[in-house]
Amino acid sequence: MRSPIDSYLADLHAELLDLTAGTPYQGIPAMADADPSKFAIAMATVDGHVYRIGDADLEFSIQSISKPFSYALALDDIGLDAVDTKIDVEPSGDAFNEISLARGSGRPANAMINAGAIATVSLIRNTDAPRFERILEHFSTAAGRRLELSDSIFASEALTGHRNRALAYLLRSFDIIETDPSPVLEDYFRACSVMVNTQDLAMMAATLANGGTQPRTGVQVMSKEAVQRTLSVMTTCGMYDDAGAWISAVGLPAKSGVGGGLIAVLPGQVGLAIYSPALDLHGSSVRGVAASERISADMGMHFVRAA
Ligand code: GLU
Repeated sequence: MRSPIDSYLADLHAELLDLTAGTPYQGIPAMADADPSKFAIAMATVDGHVYRIGDADLEFSIQSISKPFSYALALDDIGLDAVDTKIDVEPSGDAFNEISLARGSGRPANAMINAGAIATVSLIRNTDAPRFERILEHFSTAAGRRLELSDSIFASEALTGHRNRALAYLLRSFDIIETDPSPVLEDYFRACSVMVNTQDLAMMAATLANGGTQPRTGVQVMSKEAVQRTLSVMTTCGMYDDAGAWISAVGLPAKSGVGGGLIAVLPGQVGLAIYSPALDLHGSSVRGVAASERISADMGMHFVRAA
C-alpha cells in the first residue's frame, strides 16, 4: 500500500509535469540535449527511508551540487580557519560564474560560486590518493554507492570552460590558488561531471541532514563542524542570485546545479532532491524550485515557522 507521502509526491509530480517553462543548460554541448520532460523527486529520511517518484534512476551530471560536498571535504582536510583565509562566507548575490573576488586579496565571496568552488578544489588534499579519487570517494560514500565520472561531459566542460579557466588563473595571480591552476581546474571540471541520479542526491542531502553520517551505511562522511558550516553557506549562497527569494519561499539550505538537479536539507530530518533539466534564469531547475516551494509549505519545513 502506498504511504500518504508517496501519494502526496505522486500527485505533486503529476501536477508539476504541466510546468514546461525553462530551457536545459546550453553552455556545455554534451548537456544541451537533455530531455526537458524528465522529472523526479526523491526524499530520504535520516533513518534511511527513501520516498521517490518519476525518473529517479535516470543519471545526470551533478554540476554545482558538487560544490557543498567538495567544500565539506576541504573543511575536514585542512580545517575551517585555513579554508577561511582563502574563501569568504559572504553571499555574493551574483550569478554562478560571476568573478566576485575581493578587491586586494582576491578572496572569492563564497564556496558556492565557481570562483570559490575552484579555490575549494585546490585546498583538498592530494596526498594518499590523487585529489579527484578522494573527491569521487567522498561523493560516493555520501550517496551510498560507487559513482562514476562522465568522460564526455568532462571533455565538454574542459573544452568550453574558458571563463572558469580565466577564474582559476586569476585566483593563482592572487595566491588564493598556490599551485599550477591547470590540474586544479581539471579536477573542478571532473567534480562537476560526476554522474548521479535523484535518489543519490537525496541520500547525499540526507547525509548532510544527518550531521555527516550516511543514513544507510552509518559511515561518518563529514564532521559535524563541516556540515554545520556547509549548510550555513548553502543557506546564504546555494541558490546564487536567487538566494533571497529562495530562502523566503522555501526556508531550507539548498544547492542547485545546471545539470537540472537540486537538493534541499532539513537538518535532523530529511534530504530532498529533485531533477528536471529545464532551468530558470538563475540556472536552477524550474520544476525543482516549484516542487521545493510546495513540499516545504505543505510539510511545514520552512525554518521560520509562520505564527
Ligand atoms: N560546470 C558548471 C560551471 O562550472 C557548473 C555550474 C552550475 O552548475 O551552476 O560553469
